[in-house]
Order: sequence, then C-alpha cells, then structure tokens
Amino acid sequence: MATKLVAECTECGTVFRMQDFKEDSPGDSCECENIEVGTRKVNNSRYSFYFTVAYSKTKPKIYELSD
Ligand SMILES: [Zn+2]
Repeated sequence: MATKLVAECTECGTVFRMQDFKEDSPGDSCECENIEVGTRKVNNSRYSFYFTVAYSKTKPKIYELSD
C-alpha cells in the first residue's frame, strides 16, 4: 500500500498529486489560478527536490490518499 500526498484547491477542485512531479517538472497552477505548484531543488538533503505549493486566496487542502 502506497501513500500519496495530494494538494486540492478548495475553490475549483483541482487536485495535484505530488508523485506526478519530478525534479525537473515545470510548475503548474489550478483552473482558477488560486494555487501554484512546482518543485524546488535542494542540496544537502536526502531529497533531491521539494514539492512546493503556493496559494493566493484560499489555502489548499493537503491530505494523504492510500491505494
Ligand atoms: Zn483553483
């Protein structure tokens, strides 16, 4: 069973699945442009990048889904 972390815009219902993003994925935004997601490379970490979520109006809902 794998756990998936998702970020959902509560304004338009767009869902981003973090495992869909790779180190060099371009950024994206939801349909209503409330939420912008992207990746940021990091050094000196066991992770090669972070998944970043920014919002302009309403905080996204971030939760886990399991298979
Ligand atoms: Zn939205």
